[in-house]
Amino acid sequence: MQKSLKARDNELAATNRQLEILEGGLFAEGELPYFKDKINKIGHFPLRPKKLEILQINVGYMCNQVCEHCHVDAGPDRKEIMTRDTMKQCLEVIKNTGAHTLDLTGGAPEMNPDFRWFVEEAAKAGIKDFIVRSNLTIIRANKKYYDLPDFFKKHNVHVISSMPHYTRGKTDKQRGDGVFDKSIKALQELNARGYGMPGSDLRLDLVYNPSGAYLPGDQMAMEKDFKKALDQDFGIQFHNLFAITNLPIARFLDYLIASENYEDYMYALVEAYNPAAVANVMCTNTISISWDGWLYDCDFNQMLDLKVASKVKHIKDYNEDVLNDRNIIISQHCYGCTAGAGSSCQGTVA
Ligand code: SF4
Ligand code: SF4
Repeated sequence: MQKSLKARDNELAATNRQLEILEGGLFAEGELPYFKDKINKIGHFPLRPKKLEILQINVGYMCNQVCEHCHVDAGPDRKEIMTRDTMKQCLEVIKNTGAHTLDLTGGAPEMNPDFRWFVEEAAKAGIKDFIVRSNLTIIRANKKYYDLPDFFKKHNVHVISSMPHYTRGKTDKQRGDGVFDKSIKALQELNARGYGMPGSDLRLDLVYNPSGAYLPGDQMAMEKDFKKALDQDFGIQFHNLFAITNLPIARFLDYLIASENYEDYMYALVEAYNPAAVANVMCTNTISISWDGWLYDCDFNQMLDLKVASKVKHIKDYNEDVLNDRNIIISQHCYGCTAGAGSSCQGTVA
């Protein structure tokens, strides 16, 4: 199994090195326009939040997988895990937030030893949409996780799972040998509890992201293809497919540079820039909270360690009104959110 950038001492494990790359090269030389200038032309600079709708909490970077394109640089060697004390601070916020969606992510969030306690407590707040982002294989990784589908059902959790493709070859290439078969088994287990079935309130959505240096195709067409193939081959049902663009950070940036695709990919993102997507990029309705309680405009800014430009920077000082009065921090990775139909953790935005 390969290791995270951090464990490999790769220079990209340093977020300032990633930012140097994103701010320099093609952009500093004037070959491509800065994101800031693009959105300034349509009156969206500085980018400002709208009403807060989603609290996204990253409970740790530990994961049972080491996917080639992971923007978190997650893996079994990452030890950053949210403590119960920080979870308690999050719970105070969850009880009082105006947001309607709570979105738990990682790493594999289930690997946090306090994950179940946190879900049980957070579910009591009665937030309308309670999402857990599960990589699926964790459900089959060890006996202690086999009952996760029942646990999710008990707490009416909305499961969103990565599934890069409906073929074994493409999925395993991006996420590791054996991932496809385990994911299929996990999806069948979820279906058996009612998840993803037509008309079921137990929501099961899948996330597709490209396995190479290209942008995703049409989300609706892909959803149709995934539904047909997974049903025909394995009898699997799910609700929606979200097509997500890979942002040029962390391990995907490493992949782009190593495969000499970085410049072409940035050209592709800039060419696909869609002004109509800007108003609805994810950071306009989301706050992202890291395992150690720092606040970010989105999960991507979290991975670049770009903390919110606000007096309130940590969960212990959380104040939604103060936070909402901030400018969102942007750089060239943001082109990933405005390419084509736009991209967010909930799929397209335009
Ligand atoms: S992409 Fe998801 S499943 Fe893969 S290493 Fe990253 S956090 Fe884990
Ligand atoms: S990367 Fe983050 S800050 Fe940039 S546009 Fe996307 S959601 Fe907003």
